[in-house]
Amino acid sequence: MNLKQYRKKRQFDSTPEPRGSSVPRQKGDGSLVYVIQKHMSSHLHYDFRLEWQGVLLSWAVPKGPSLNPAVKRLAMQTEDHPLEYAKFEGVIPEGQYGAGTVMLWDRGTWQPENADVDVSLQRGEIKLTVHGKKLQGSWVLVHTRGFGNNPARSAWMLIKHRDQYASASDVTQEEPRSVVTQRLLAEIARDDGGDIERASLGDPGRKARRTNKARSRSGRIA
Ligand code: MN
Repeated sequence: MNLKQYRKKRQFDSTPEPRGSSVPRQKGDGSLVYVIQKHMSSHLHYDFRLEWQGVLLSWAVPKGPSLNPAVKRLAMQTEDHPLEYAKFEGVIPEGQYGAGTVMLWDRGTWQPENADVDVSLQRGEIKLTVHGKKLQGSWVLVHTRGFGNNPARSAWMLIKHRDQYASASDVTQEEPRSVVTQRLLAEIARDDGGDIERASLGDPGRKARRTNKARSRSGRIA
């Protein structure tokens, strides 16, 4: 696990994303960071990230998490990200890798349910307890063999376990705002100089889109 791939893909003089420190930060209480970033780039997806061994293990979940244990959500493993990334919300400029708008959709801590996470990673089954604002309780990431044919893009499934936090409600639709700033994607794009129209495609409902379009117009006049 290292940040070589992450850094190779990005130009840090052009993107506001963190380069990441080379020495992993140790948190005093031993808790591990969990974060989900809603990312409207070429396609809308939710980046599910778990702190482990000084980096954020990362998966891109196109449809986002489901609280329904009967629903499996595809999660494509992506390059490890620096721990500092767990604080990033903003706009990745055009022409840069992942160009688009990033929202801190959920954040908190996680605990592995099996002691040895490296073994779980190798076996392709990570059972975890999530302590977030939107996601809580027990989840599993399962590696699926035979999906697609690109070995560099490893396919997993993100599934809710049955517990008191399981639900039939659609959390991505019902809780579309930033967990930190309460902004919608279009509002983040508006504030940080991004493509508001494009960002709004990731926000639910047509009303929000019109509102933000109107705001952006008045913003430009002012
Ligand atoms: Mn992403």
